[in-house]
Amino acid sequence: MLLEADILLPITQKPIRQGGILIHNGKIADIGSKNLLQKKYPHHKIRSFRDTLLLPGFVNAHCHLEFGPCLSNKEPPPSFTTWVRQLIAKGTPKRHLLKKRIHEGQEALLKSGVTTVVDHITPDLLSLHSRQSPLRHFFCLEILGAERSRGQESLKKARKIMKASSLSEILLTPHSLYSVHHQVLTSLLQDLKKQPFFSIHLLESFDENRFFVHRSGPLARFVRERGGSVGPLSPVFWLQKQGFLRHHPLIVHGNYLSPQDLKIIKKFGLSLIHCPGSHRFFGHRPFPLDAILKSDINVALGTDSLASLANNHRLSFFSELKLMRGNFPKISPEDIIRMATLNGARAIRRAGEIGSLEIGKRADIIAMTMKDKKKDPYENVILNNKIKWTMIEGRFVDV
Ligand SMILES: [Zn+2]
Repeated sequence: MLLEADILLPITQKPIRQGGILIHNGKIADIGSKNLLQKKYPHHKIRSFRDTLLLPGFVNAHCHLEFGPCLSNKEPPPSFTTWVRQLIAKGTPKRHLLKKRIHEGQEALLKSGVTTVVDHITPDLLSLHSRQSPLRHFFCLEILGAERSRGQESLKKARKIMKASSLSEILLTPHSLYSVHHQVLTSLLQDLKKQPFFSIHLLESFDENRFFVHRSGPLARFVRERGGSVGPLSPVFWLQKQGFLRHHPLIVHGNYLSPQDLKIIKKFGLSLIHCPGSHRFFGHRPFPLDAILKSDINVALGTDSLASLANNHRLSFFSELKLMRGNFPKISPEDIIRMATLNGARAIRRAGEIGSLEIGKRADIIAMTMKDKKKDPYENVILNNKIKWTMIEGRFVDV
């Protein structure tokens, strides 16, 4: 099948006007000018789309689909720790409601152009996911437990669930450094060595910064109440010393990283996952994107969950792109779209397969309207609120 559109945004090369993409066996077999491709492949079926631009599907590099709309807050809580306490107090809903939430979340992501998602999940809830969702879904089974025996139990259970599941792309992942006992983290290392990557919340909040750097504050009280102890002075340095950084962690948030932390992150070639909506919700200090980009660190984007987004967000990846555009006017729309696609693929070590429109890559493609033809095509992507259609692995997906 030959797809034709006004503009293609391959990401790894300049936009192609009046372009075509040849799809074969779920992959991109050729890409270039539509006239050339028509001559080269005269017998292929053509699907032509007017006023349309095509680009690779978005990679949502951080999400918790199990946190549904009922957890969203009208007002941000006074502190991160208060938010955690409120979330725990709300309790776990019935499984059928959770299943519905997850399904709605998947739909919302697909509608906003996401084709790949890295989803942190409670291990028990893995069975609520089915193979049926077309999303390229990476399931990060979260290990939790500040107190040692609770953490050990969580790890044991997650290993068992992972082994028994028929779903692919399941990974074990520590929730964070403050919420998992350090001895449990150390035993998790043997699992992480066998995985392509893992994902960890790190230095997300002011409270977490106080917890590690000053060993005090509400988060330190919260963790002590649960039988945990106050962690190392520099969590990034600790992860490096223990050997975690060799196993490709996605550093999720990293809102309070020090210049020294950035040097270590750069040295290990790690990726930072920024979640603009969640960042705004908590009112964190401005995200030091300039310093991070100057350090040549790969930055990808995530939605995080509805529990830390304003209640009108609806888990739309376009909302995150618009926030990026508003918060960082000096960053070009092209760079923002690269963060949303190729950088996400790089973060999860799949840049050889997804994240750009290149020959040999999987045909994960999204289509959207050219809202303003006078404007830059990357800016046009951000102007949209929904996609026209999506294709995953060469198949059109119903959204
Ligand atoms: Zn998260």
